[in-house]
Amino acid sequence: MAEVTNGMTRGTFLGSTVALPAFLTVANAAALADAQKASQASVHYQSSPNGNKQCSGCKFFIAGSDANSDGRCQMVDGSISPHGYCDSYSAKSS
Ligand code: SF4
Repeated sequence: MAEVTNGMTRGTFLGSTVALPAFLTVANAAALADAQKASQASVHYQSSPNGNKQCSGCKFFIAGSDANSDGRCQMVDGSISPHGYCDSYSAKSS
């Protein structure tokens, strides 16, 4: 029978200690992903469209809470306007 310490069996204690490094790995991966994105300056990001080209029509755009809210970009760091534009623009395929 498993030993009980502070309401935890050895199995649940070991499970907790194994889960913590897994969580840290996910957090580190997210931080690393952000660090690998281009800066807004390096891709000449602007918060206004370039003609009919804007972030909401770009395949790298991750929409915000609604059509006019800032979102994120898979390629560029920071908050991104759906009406913005940068050198890495790539139209969504239809
Ligand atoms: S790659 Fe550039 S144009 Fe496309 S969503 Fe990101 S910031 Fe906007």
